[in-house]
Amino acid sequence: MHKDQTEDHRNLLNLPVLVLNQTYEPLNICRARRALILIQYGKAEMLENGTGVVRSVNTVFELPSVIRLARMIRRPRRERKLTRFEIFERDRYTCQYCGKQTHQLTLDHVIPRHMGGPHTWENVVSACVACNRRKAGKTPEESGMKLSQHPTRPRGNILFTIPYHYRNNRNEWGKYLPGNS
Ligand SMILES: [Zn+2]
Repeated sequence: MHKDQTEDHRNLLNLPVLVLNQTYEPLNICRARRALILIQYGKAEMLENGTGVVRSVNTVFELPSVIRLARMIRRPRRERKLTRFEIFERDRYTCQYCGKQTHQLTLDHVIPRHMGGPHTWENVVSACVACNRRKAGKTPEESGMKLSQHPTRPRGNILFTIPYHYRNNRNEWGKYLPGNS
């Protein structure tokens, strides 16, 4: 095999695959390499193809994009914790004041802490650096800024949060991610 072919092969095997529980609930993300092994040993079935195939010496494997486990995995649900990651995910990496989509985000307390604003889902939003600077410890009204939507607590407890950038990139994952789309 030529060197660049080997590298292509390796890249394909590293592509992310969405793993669903037997109940079709999203469990985690693994690499295609791992997914192919699970399928090969009958521990998972392929629900969605990715793009491309993986060739071994005498076989061609379809590349999976979504697999479903043959047996149910029991895992405790966890309550969503108010973290930077969860807030940015909830807000889809979008500044809640100007609408800019970016990974250069800060946490903003809508009613500032020094005015008694609580650290809660309903009072914390994602703000880009420019908006954060412009708002500077004032309320939205005082700084003449407007929230694009009212911040809320995300619904329910979860097994797993699909990182937002995967939701954007992998169209075929969408229908398996209720409430995530
Ligand atoms: Zn902004």
